[in-house]
Amino acid sequence: MNLLEECRSAKRIGIGGHIRPDGDCVGACLALGRYLKKELPGAFVKVFLEKPADVFQEIAGFEEIDSDFGAQEPFDVFFALDCGADRLGEAEDYFANAGKKINIDHHVSNSGSGDINVIKPKIGSTCEVLYDLFEADKLDREIAMALYIGIIHDTGVFQYSNTTPDTLKKASALIAYGFDFPRLIQETFYQKTYVQAQVMGRALMESIRFLDGRCIVSALDKKTMEFYNVEPKDLDGIVSQLRNIKGISCAIFMYQTGTLEYKVSLRTDEKVDAAKVAAYFGGGGHVRAAGCTMRGTFHDCVNNLSLHIEKQLNGENS
Ligand code: AMP
Ligand code: MN
Ligand code: MN
Repeated sequence: MNLLEECRSAKRIGIGGHIRPDGDCVGACLALGRYLKKELPGAFVKVFLEKPADVFQEIAGFEEIDSDFGAQEPFDVFFALDCGADRLGEAEDYFANAGKKINIDHHVSNSGSGDINVIKPKIGSTCEVLYDLFEADKLDREIAMALYIGIIHDTGVFQYSNTTPDTLKKASALIAYGFDFPRLIQETFYQKTYVQAQVMGRALMESIRFLDGRCIVSALDKKTMEFYNVEPKDLDGIVSQLRNIKGISCAIFMYQTGTLEYKVSLRTDEKVDAAKVAAYFGGGGHVRAAGCTMRGTFHDCVNNLSLHIEKQLNGENS
C-alpha cells in the first residue's frame, strides 16, 4: 500500500486508535497525523483518541488530539491504528462511515476491518509497521520521536520477545534524528508518580499465586482506585511487574470497570498463549501479552481464566 496515494484525493482524513491508548497507539496516531499533514497540506487531518496519559504530551501534535469526538462531517479516509474497528471506541462510527477505511495493526487477533488492511502480527508495534509504510526521506525529528516512543512501549524497551533485528535497525535509524531518547525512556516508560507506585505496591502485596505457583493474580476494585484517585492509565506496568516474579508463567492483573465487570491483562512466558486465553473471553492481543473484559466476581473471573491457563500449562492445546 502507498499511504500517500491512498489519501491523494481525500479532503478530510481521520485517524483513530484503541480505547485506553498506550504508547504505541498514541505514537502511531500522532506520527501518521504529522506525516499526512506535512505531505498533503491541502487536506484536513485529525487524530481522535481518548485522552492519553500526560507522559505523552511531548509528542508533536498531542495538543491537537480531539478527545471529545466532535467531528460533524464524514471522512474521505479514516485510519484505525493498533486495533480493529471493534476497539475504536467513540471513533467507531467515523471509521464505519468513511469513504475509505484503512486498518493498520499488529495484533494477531485482528482479522482486518478496513477496505485496506495492513495487519502484521509478527511485527512488535504498529509504529514499526508505519515505519515501513513511510518514505524514509519524508520523516522528521518529531515523527521519528513519535515512532520511537511507540516502539519502546510495545517492546518494553527492546526487552520483550517481539523485539527483532529489524526493530533495532529501525530504532537505530530513528535515534539518528537526535532526540533525547534516554530521557524519553525514563520519563514515559519507567517513571511513576508517587500514587502510581503506591498502587503498584498494593497490587503486588495483595497478589495471590495459584496453579502450583505458576500463575499469579492481583485485582484492584473501584473503591481502591477511587481512594488513590487513579485511572486505568495509571496502572500500566503492574502486570509486567507481576510477570517478573520467579516461577511465574502467567500473570494476571485486573481492575474493576463496573458492577461485576473487570478489565483483565495477561502476560505470559512461552508455556501459555495469552492471546488464545483472552480470545475465549472476547478479547485478544499477542502471544505473550493480551487482554479482555470479563463479567462476574473476582473469583468467577479467576476460575474461568484458570481453566484455560491450566490446560495450556499441562500441554493440552485444546
Ligand atoms: P493490556 O493488557 O491492556 O496492556 O493489553 C495487552 C495487549 O493486548 C495489547 O496489545 C492490547 O492492545 C491487547 N488487548 C487488550 N485488550 C484487548 C481486547 N479486548 N481485544 C483485543 N486486544 C486486546
Ligand atoms: Mn496498543
Ligand atoms: Mn501495539
